[in-house]
Amino acid sequence: MRLHFVSFLLEFKHAFGVSGNKRTHTPTVFVSLQMGEFIGYGEACMPVYLGETVENTLAFYQSIHSDINSIKSLVELDIYLKTKLKAVSGLQAAKAALSIAFYDLKGKTEGKSLRQLLNIEAKTCIVTSATIGLDDYKKLEIKLNEARDFKILKVKIGGENDKELITFIRSLTDKPLYVDANQGWNNLDNAIEMTHWLKERNVLLVEQPLPKNNLEQMAILKEKSALPIIADESIRNLEDCKNQYFAFHGINIKLMKCGGIQEAIDLINFAKTKNLKIMLGCMAESSCATAAMAQLASFADYIDLDAPHLINNDPFNGITYINGELILENKIGIGVWPKKNSDLFINRS
Ligand code: MG
Repeated sequence: MRLHFVSFLLEFKHAFGVSGNKRTHTPTVFVSLQMGEFIGYGEACMPVYLGETVENTLAFYQSIHSDINSIKSLVELDIYLKTKLKAVSGLQAAKAALSIAFYDLKGKTEGKSLRQLLNIEAKTCIVTSATIGLDDYKKLEIKLNEARDFKILKVKIGGENDKELITFIRSLTDKPLYVDANQGWNNLDNAIEMTHWLKERNVLLVEQPLPKNNLEQMAILKEKSALPIIADESIRNLEDCKNQYFAFHGINIKLMKCGGIQEAIDLINFAKTKNLKIMLGCMAESSCATAAMAQLASFADYIDLDAPHLINNDPFNGITYINGELILENKIGIGVWPKKNSDLFINRS
């Protein structure tokens, strides 16, 4: 077995603005696990605001590099990863990347897609929202035009002028909207009123309206809201979900938050027992991590897997967007392969 890893900067087509944060790039580390002729790919994406760093991720991979290179089989790798990753705290993105690469490699060696490996029903029509970051009105118009083929838009709100922003967007499109406040609302009464105002304007849900630790008010908002309240920053993993699900109608599950494919499935299974709505989401990722999550699409009530549409320099092939649907190539593993001109992993160890 060979472990390779390399850092990479994903570049946004447009600077990406959310409540309290705007950025042009997202640091990423790509990993590969190679066994004979088969190579599994994975991705650790680290938006700066989450606190995980490329340096820590690379140092972690360096620390397990020789262990993995001495492994001879997938069974042995599976046991090693399960034990090792459980023993390490944090580093969710680094763990997610290894999990993605493991399943990609396993699928390739067994001639199966990730869905087939995990007995997940195939979803033929994956309708995803397209995210519209916070920006000035001129740029918003450009972004709305670029997202014209998508059937649902996810609008980042949570600033001072949310009503003005939505009114502007409604002057240009009547498509259904998800809105994501990214913890930007601070007043409970205003938040309740906003959900009613937004519902009248064909908004379908509100993601993370209040600060992540304000669960008491979030639970009141859930009761009085006109729209489903979906957790993002509040719920990263299964433990968070067990403690906090009562304050939400649903959760946005992301591989980079929960730390792997099995962890995402555990979250989905728990969410189902509590009748929570399931959104499958992504960070600013390439097609690599997004394709892995798209394999789980049949579990989702809402799909927000548009990251490759937002970046300029995706080093992988495998995902295309046609008429607002994410089209996954029918391939083994997670379903992606490096672009020909990508020099990922060349001459690296
Ligand atoms: Mg969000």
